[in-house]
Amino acid sequence: LSDLLAKLGDDGLAGRRRQGPVDRITEDDLRRGIENDDLVVFFQPKVRVRDRKVVGVESLVRWQHQTRGLVPPMAFIPVAEDLGLIDALTDSVYAKAVRQGGRWLTAGHDIKVAVNISVDSLTRFDLPEMIVATAAAEGLDPSHIVLEVTESRLMHDIRSSLEILTRLRLKGVGLSIDDFGTGHSSLHQLKRIPFTELKIDRAFVFGAARDPAARAILDSSVGLARSLGMSTVAEGAETQEDWDLVESLGVDMVQGYVVAKPMPADQFDAWLTAWEA
Ligand code: C2E
Ligand code: MG
Ligand code: MG
Ligand code: MG
Repeated sequence: LSDLLAKLGDDGLAGRRRQGPVDRITEDDLRRGIENDDLVVFFQPKVRVRDRKVVGVESLVRWQHQTRGLVPPMAFIPVAEDLGLIDALTDSVYAKAVRQGGRWLTAGHDIKVAVNISVDSLTRFDLPEMIVATAAAEGLDPSHIVLEVTESRLMHDIRSSLEILTRLRLKGVGLSIDDFGTGHSSLHQLKRIPFTELKIDRAFVFGAARDPAARAILDSSVGLARSLGMSTVAEGAETQEDWDLVESLGVDMVQGYVVAKPMPADQFDAWLTAWEA
């Protein structure tokens, strides 16, 4: 129990309280940031465990703020959702991500580009068309795109999201269920949505070798994904020990600091060259 309380102090209530600056981001500020094109997209590799090949990237937005510096997404994404600015943000991040994906393809790298999509945007009827058309303009077909949707939020709004997700999948876009294990998907719900990828939350990856409960959740998530025909990504693997565990459990891909942190595109290119060597 004392372990549990210590964890709560770290990641739970205190963690939420630490997000204080969120309240001070104003609508005007964020609107201006989006309009001024102050959003920067970082890329973090997804590496296939079997052969260590970089098979994908996740696009992660940051806000290059004039006075605050580089603002992390959790400080402004929820604000953008509350203020109805999330669609403009999604469009901007997605356009930047696929532009970069097109450059990689031209350079001979077969890398799938993943973008996070807020559940709020899954009510947009133009979303599937926008996703496919914007990618096509950069020479990417839908199979090069993965959209990541957070499990907890999705299961809350599943009915309204189901149609858009199904239409995206029918067009050939990959669908990933993000932060898996932190929501509460029923098996029934999971099989209704044609997900192609399951990302196991880092709470069940980092340090799981020494945490029997985390390890059990990791192991059974891999089994579940496999039996539903989805590929698996272990998020937040930070150590060799994490890598060895997920490898032994048959996880397909690793994304985490053990491979690389999220980076701007130019740094990513340099990193990729070194990794491939
Ligand atoms: P996420 O989609 O689960 O992204 C993974 C997060 O884990 C990223 O945090 C990444 O930097 C972090 N991470 C990766 N490897 C490790 C590791 O080994 N250790 C640790 N401690 N952390 C690791 P980030 O970039 O701060 O993003 C946080 C969340 O913000 C994302 O979680 C996603 O839910 C959201 N987000 C980011 N960009 C966008 C976006 O363009 N649109 C939307 N709607 N949400 C976004
Ligand atoms: Mg994600
Ligand atoms: Mg995640
Ligand atoms: Mg997350």
